[in-house]
Amino acid sequence: MIDAAEVTKLVKSAYISYQRSYVRKVNEDLRKGKRIENTLQKYPFASKILQLGRLVDPYRDELHLSKALDIILESPVYARVDEREQASNEEDKDLEYTDILVKELLKWYKEEFFKWVNKPTCSRCHNDVQEKIIGLPPVKPFTAEHSIGGASIVERYKCLNCQHLILFPRYNNPSTLLDTREGRCGEWNNCFILILKALSIQARYLWNAEDHVWCEYFSPKMKRWIHLDSCENAFDNPYLYNDGWNKKMSYLLVTENIDRIQFKKLC
Ligand SMILES: [Zn+2]
Repeated sequence: MIDAAEVTKLVKSAYISYQRSYVRKVNEDLRKGKRIENTLQKYPFASKILQLGRLVDPYRDELHLSKALDIILESPVYARVDEREQASNEEDKDLEYTDILVKELLKWYKEEFFKWVNKPTCSRCHNDVQEKIIGLPPVKPFTAEHSIGGASIVERYKCLNCQHLILFPRYNNPSTLLDTREGRCGEWNNCFILILKALSIQARYLWNAEDHVWCEYFSPKMKRWIHLDSCENAFDNPYLYNDGWNKKMSYLLVTENIDRIQFKKLC
């Protein structure tokens, strides 16, 4: 004869012990993760790799990708690609649909979608005179919005026109950047890669030790990775930095996804 009360007690105790071991395991993993992170803090190169891995991870998120896709579908980009294909321009003769799409995306992104920000415009009086905005020391992210947007730091400025404190969170979540649509090369590049990925274009992130980032996409027609700099509307111009900007560069980290980060020495 089975005693129902006894069975309930046994199940309950088994469940509690399972739950305890589960909580213990989660806490251990968290502690382990924290220890690894603390260790990495001492090694800037290792932390950079960790940081890059985290930065490209959101490109796998279906919600981010579909948000980016919706924006492109509502934009004039596809109509322009069709027009351009029909026009059969001389400069496009060796290109395929994907390449023309990337060219039109770059142009639209730079001219109509994203905005470059050195010092942000005052949100109270709309002053954007750079000399009338002074920089203050940055602070750590402190609101839920900063945290959802993956802000690494919050830059602060003071408007000399109206004394307003202007905050400029440096967001790393590419989905947030689809809304804010502003920043410096980091934000520009991050959001642009999300758009490429949303259109199923194979793309990778390039980080240069001398403080610049850009990306590349794989052209099935040309059978190689093509350099893209969304801040510059630059297509297949990898010598832009050495020749155009007269910049000496030491090395690059190239990452397509969190599991694959390559190191490339440049000199
Ligand atoms: Zn102001």
